[in-house]
Amino acid sequence: MAIKRTRIVDIFAPQLVGKQVSVKGWVRTRRGNKNVQFVALNDGSTIKNIQIVFDLTKFSDEDLKPITTGSSIHVEGLLVESQGKGQTAEIQAETLEIYGTADPDTYPLQKKGHTLEFLREKAHLRPRTNTFGAVLRIRHTLAYAIHKFFNDRGFFYLNTPLITASDCEGAGAMFQVTTLDLNNLPKTEEGKIDYEQDFFGKQANLTVSGQLEGELGATALGAIYTFGPTFRAENSNTPRHLSEFWMVEPEVAFNEIEENMDLAEDFIKYCISYALENAKDDIDFLAQMYDSELVERLKFVVENDFVRLPYTEGVKILEASGHKFEFPVSWGIDLQSEHERYLVEEHFKKPVILTDYPKEIKAFYMKLNEDNKTVRAMDVLFPKIGEIIGGSQREENYDKLLARIEELEIPMKDMWWYLDTRRFGTVPHSGFGLGFERLVLFVTGMTNIRDVIPFPRTPNNAEF
Ligand code: ATP
Ligand code: MN
Repeated sequence: MAIKRTRIVDIFAPQLVGKQVSVKGWVRTRRGNKNVQFVALNDGSTIKNIQIVFDLTKFSDEDLKPITTGSSIHVEGLLVESQGKGQTAEIQAETLEIYGTADPDTYPLQKKGHTLEFLREKAHLRPRTNTFGAVLRIRHTLAYAIHKFFNDRGFFYLNTPLITASDCEGAGAMFQVTTLDLNNLPKTEEGKIDYEQDFFGKQANLTVSGQLEGELGATALGAIYTFGPTFRAENSNTPRHLSEFWMVEPEVAFNEIEENMDLAEDFIKYCISYALENAKDDIDFLAQMYDSELVERLKFVVENDFVRLPYTEGVKILEASGHKFEFPVSWGIDLQSEHERYLVEEHFKKPVILTDYPKEIKAFYMKLNEDNKTVRAMDVLFPKIGEIIGGSQREENYDKLLARIEELEIPMKDMWWYLDTRRFGTVPHSGFGLGFERLVLFVTGMTNIRDVIPFPRTPNNAEF
């Protein structure tokens, strides 16, 4: 009778020592001499490899020849305590089945130690490397932590649409969705494109945020969160921007800005602690390979209160700093990453929640303060990352919101349904958006956002 496969993450259990086991996976290395050969096998379940020992009195050179880096095999044998150091157990191979070979001359990951840039060109295979295995497992762990955090606190997961007909969020340039024949566009009498003939009977785009629909959910269910893809067509080639990224957007009825800040801080700390506890091997691996201060930095964020500071105070600190910024600082500017990072990394040496931004640089739906100049916005700024969360208390007053919409000349025909939340049973409410990849960046210590999503979409890049 065939033995049931054991995943490599489970193979190091003491009770399995002395038992017959079956493992399946991809070969990382094979080395040895004419008496014995050692194969390091990985199946993706853990950063750890299992060592398999092939005794050359039982296997021939010919048997083992196809076992090169990247090939896939199935081995059965006895699990024994390991002789070699650094290993706890190894398998003495008794049977070998080869699923697929990987020609050493053409397999792109034949050698170790490729650069992250090289691996970006091989994004279809890079999940098979230690680094990307670790990153993707951490990404999964964080996604699970997010759902757990909100579920444990009574939030409902709300799925908001990816295709939207309103271009009013203003969060970024949008990708258009159309089935019109681009070589033969239907025209109206005035010579404009006739979107009535398009699939949805109007112009449609991919969403830049689920927030507006999230507010509809929150003002019905009380507390909701979204967690899904968002799309931004900006031509920004930075290590922190993707054209397609995942956003987490909680929205809570009756929450004011302070409660929103508390939620954001608890939420981020929870996710980081969860990863430290549940993805330790992978975090330790990345720390050892790329970033020796990683674990210390993660613990520091979990253990310390975030600084909470009005934008106006932040600007004063930057102006008084004497630091030479590429973009000069004055009240009213939209802070650049260099300013955000100065406050976090140089001045406070802690995460900062910056609040009460000038209304001109923030979205129309944010609640106006008494001063009529600033809004109840809150951005969470992180070391190495800059902005990781952007949020606010929302304007719940119908007249004030309408005035702002008219002031900014946002087309009303797109906004009627959103305004209905303020016409019928309006309530104070707040929420925020966390860029999921920015959280994964922080927790993995990676420095380029293209390296924390399996298939990055950036300008000129959608190959795989
Ligand atoms: P930034 O100023 O960094 O471009 P933003 O202010 O335009 O960000 P928001 O509209 O506030 O971003 O979106 C909420 C969160 O989504 C941000 O705090 C950030 O974590 C994340 N985010 C925004 N744009 C991107 C992007 N292009 N790629 C990855 N994450 C992003
Ligand atoms: Mn923002």
